Amino acid sequence: MQGSKTTKPLCNRHYTRMSDSPISINNRPVQTYRCDIVNCGRYFLEGEGYFKIKDGKLVFDDQLLICKEHEEPLSLAKYSYSKQEELWVCRIEGCDYEVRIGPKSVPAPDATRSSLDDMRL
Ligand SMILES: [Zn+2]
Ligand SMILES: [Zn+2]
Repeated sequence: MQGSKTTKPLCNRHYTRMSDSPISINNRPVQTYRCDIVNCGRYFLEGEGYFKIKDGKLVFDDQLLICKEHEEPLSLAKYSYSKQEELWVCRIEGCDYEVRIGPKSVPAPDATRSSLDDMRL
């Protein structure tokens, strides 16, 4: 294991920090990160990006953001709740390529809808 100082990526759906999660791909152990939220099932693999596992296969996201310099998938590093802005960064050490996306609201439970329904007496 080489010591990487890169931080763990955030889940691109929940904006929570992912945890180390070694999985086995083609019988080889691979270090990935996994979202801890129940039923999320999102992973991140260095150099490959976000994916989920379906029927034993890795299904990668298609809206991958790529570093122009390294052609590596970016990972979600930060979410600003005040600006509703996502910050995506390149994971290669020393690279400062980043992309900001926003405003983008957090996927929230439909609280607004149910309160609207409540008002409909
Ligand atoms: Zn998640
Ligand atoms: Zn880069």
